[in-house]
Amino acid sequence: MLICIFAENVIALAESKMEGMKSMYLGCHLSASAGYAAMVETATSIGADTFAFFTRNPRGSRARQENPQDAARAVALLKERGFGPLVAHGAYTMNLCTADPEARAFAADVLLDDLRRMEALPGNFYNFHPGSHTGQGVEQGIEYICAALRRALEPGYPVTVLLETMAGKGSEIGGRFEELKQLLDAVGSSQVGVCLDTCHVYDGGYDIVNDLDGVLGEFDRVIGLNRLKALHLNDSKNPFNSHKDRHECIGQGSLGLGTFEAIVNHPALTGLPMILETPNELPGYAREIKTLRSLAGFRNRLP
Ligand SMILES: [Zn+2]
Ligand SMILES: [Zn+2]
Repeated sequence: MLICIFAENVIALAESKMEGMKSMYLGCHLSASAGYAAMVETATSIGADTFAFFTRNPRGSRARQENPQDAARAVALLKERGFGPLVAHGAYTMNLCTADPEARAFAADVLLDDLRRMEALPGNFYNFHPGSHTGQGVEQGIEYICAALRRALEPGYPVTVLLETMAGKGSEIGGRFEELKQLLDAVGSSQVGVCLDTCHVYDGGYDIVNDLDGVLGEFDRVIGLNRLKALHLNDSKNPFNSHKDRHECIGQGSLGLGTFEAIVNHPALTGLPMILETPNELPGYAREIKTLRSLAGFRNRLP
C-alpha cells in the first residue's frame, strides 16, 4: 500500500513538473570571483544548465561587492539559455545553532545578509548546512536554526531556502530526514525546502546504492517529495553509514556509476537541478556532466 501511494505521488509529481520544464538540469559548483554573468558563461562552456556558487568566502564571512548590472545580465542569460534554478551555497562556517551566543548571532546576521543579496536572483535557490548543535542537543539546535530562518524570511521572499541533508558528522543537524522535517514544520514556511546530497545521505545511513526507491519512499513519507528541490551529486570516499562526508568523483567512490544512472533517470527526481561538488577542475566537471547526460534516458540527454 505504501509503495503504491509512493508510486502515485511520484507520477503526479513528475507530471506536474514536466509542464514547460526540462526533465533534468545538470551543473557543478563554480567560482563566483568574476561575477554572476561570468558563471553563466562558464557553465554554458562545460555543458551545464544550472550551477552552484558560494554566496561569500566559504570559510570566512566576507561577501563580495554587490553588482546589480551583473546580476541583471545573468538573469537575462539564464532565461535566454533555458537554465534551471541555480543553487547558491551558504558559507560552511555559518553555524546558526552553535552554543556560542556571539557566533550564533553573527551567523544569523550572515544568513539575513545572504538572503537579502539573493533577491538579485529571484526564482533561484539558496542552500545551507543546518548547523551543528555543539552538545546542546537536537531540540535546542532546531530552535536556534528556526529562529534565524524566521527572522530572515519575509512573506513573498522570491528565493527558496534549502536545508541540506547532512552525513551526521559530530553534532550536525540534518543527518536524519526526521530532523529536517521537524525544522521545516517549525519554520512553517513554504519558502523552505530540502537539497539532498547523495554522498551525505549514503554516509548518513540511507542506502541509495541498493535501495534508491526505498530511500526516496522514506523521504516522501517523512518529509514529502514536494519539498525536495535540488540534489548535490557526489560520490563518497567512505563506506555506507560512515558519517564522514568526503566527496569523490562520480563513479570512483562507494556509490558507483550505477547509482548515478538510477538517480538521473528516477521519475521522482524529474526536473530538479543536480549539482556536482566533486573534487574536480572545470575539465573534470565537463566530463562528469557529459557522462551523466549519456546515462540519462533519451529525453534527459540534451543540455
Ligand atoms: Zn553543502
Ligand atoms: Zn559534503
